[in-house]
Amino acid sequence: MVKQKSDYPENWKKLAEELKEEVNWTCQECGIKHNETFKDGKKAVLGVAHLDQNRQHNKRKNLKVLCQRCHFRFDQQFNVMRRKYGKKFNLKPQLSIWD
Ligand SMILES: [Zn+2]
Repeated sequence: MVKQKSDYPENWKKLAEELKEEVNWTCQECGIKHNETFKDGKKAVLGVAHLDQNRQHNKRKNLKVLCQRCHFRFDQQFNVMRRKYGKKFNLKPQLSIWD
């Protein structure tokens, strides 16, 4: 098996698992639970998002457990900014929208 190069830390899987345990396998944004179904029948899969998009930055306050839809929505804002301002865009997430 070829080991894929990743910018996630070695213990990421364990870290993410612990975090999901901590929030009771619930999306911290919309409140859906892991494996629960959305209104359209799709299953929710929880993941852990980096609030500053830096995968090396794994301090608790930089991490948030989100379902795939909230995660997508969260990442979206960065993609929009990148498209708007180009590569020089200095990532500063609008954290307030999550409070
Ligand atoms: Zn969600």
